[in-house]
Amino acid sequence: MSARITVVGSGFAGMTALRTLRRQDRDAELTLVAPAAELHYLPGTIWLPSGKRTREDLVVPLEAFLRRERIAFHAARATGLSADARVLHTDTGDVRNDGLVIATGACFLRKLPGIEHAIIPCEGVAAGEAIRDRLATLEGGTLCFGFGSNPAEPIAMRGGPVFEFVFGTETLLRRQGRRDRFDLVFFSPSARPGQRLGDRAVGMLLGEMRKRGIETVLGEKPQRFEADAVQLERTRIDSDLTLFMPGLTGQAWLDQTTLPRSPGGFVQGSETCRVPGFANTYVAGDGGSFPGPDWMPKQAHQADLQAEVAARNLLRELRGEAADERFRSELVCIVDTLERGMLVVRRGTRTLALPPTRLAHWSKAAFEKRYLRPFR
Ligand SMILES: Cc1cc2nc3c(=O)[nH]c(=O)nc-3n(C[C@H](O)[C@H](O)[C@H](O)COP(=O)(O)OP(=O)(O)OC[C@H]3O[C@@H](n4cnc5c(N)ncnc54)[C@H](O)[C@@H]3O)c2cc1C
Repeated sequence: MSARITVVGSGFAGMTALRTLRRQDRDAELTLVAPAAELHYLPGTIWLPSGKRTREDLVVPLEAFLRRERIAFHAARATGLSADARVLHTDTGDVRNDGLVIATGACFLRKLPGIEHAIIPCEGVAAGEAIRDRLATLEGGTLCFGFGSNPAEPIAMRGGPVFEFVFGTETLLRRQGRRDRFDLVFFSPSARPGQRLGDRAVGMLLGEMRKRGIETVLGEKPQRFEADAVQLERTRIDSDLTLFMPGLTGQAWLDQTTLPRSPGGFVQGSETCRVPGFANTYVAGDGGSFPGPDWMPKQAHQADLQAEVAARNLLRELRGEAADERFRSELVCIVDTLERGMLVVRRGTRTLALPPTRLAHWSKAAFEKRYLRPFR
């Protein structure tokens, strides 16, 4: 009898898991559980404020892909899991499985007072559109950009896109001929923000800010956000638009499960992406916490690498074979400025960081097109 496999979440990890499962097993009964049959290409949201991308470019309907690949779709949010993980509870009914891949991504810590006054740039397409619309109405003023981490799991943060929003906004204002009417301020609790990208990359990022006249306030934790200001430990910055990316944590539905959790609230995964103590149950992507180097990114590329391994190991385990393939930790990132991109690659003990080039900017756009082609 063919195995019933449920993948929960239709982001990078979920869709890569499904593609890998179908490639490896033509007969498996695959079910996707997600709120909508859509893939949101989050890295492209950095280009919403400039109009280089629209919602239609980045929200990819999945109906045709699911039909082609014979994947059933259960429109729902996961709300819990049976003790043996063989029944996923959702807000539109239970889904039974022989194997499960959890790929529900991360959500944001909203603990800082006044966080509602900041736009969280990584919250998706709507946030990118909100930044675009707010920038269009402003005649001038101060724009503040920053990111935080999860104190319980400092690796659970995402800084790269915030650098991209800073540089992209600066380029956009210059193109529009109104850069002189705006002050741009980048703030960070760290004296060397973006350390996960490696020291050379941090130097290049801070150098790029100096070159572009972007002010930095470093080494001070944000205390609260107000409608027109950011209050740091010692410094208060007037702000007409605040973009802040808080630290990441696991999705709330995990609280209704007995899955093992990391200090930061993520599903604990092993080097093989298996959830310890749960048969035929795997986790991939931003929603998991995995052993590895302290620079292991919460990134689409890393999510894809984990999802491929999770899918292959799940099929092996279902066949009674050794499921011991380990995923590779790898950071590949192009920090885009709207006209150039800075390429950073980390693998093992090696780090490559190249100054901004036009080629890297074009490569980022070309990669997006190629990545989304199978889903169109
Ligand atoms: C602005 C921005 C720029 C970025 N740039 C890059 C980049 O250049 N390179 C890169 O590699 N990465 C980049 N990233 C990071 C990348 O987008 C994430 O790491 C990636 O989306 C993680 O994939 P995921 O599948 O784990 O989670 P997600 O893509 O977040 O997908 C999670 C899925 O789970 C679903 N879900 C959530 N809760 C439930 C529930 N209860 N039940 C069912 N489904 C649920 C969601 O609807 C979604 O479909 C960027 C992110 C942002 C926001």
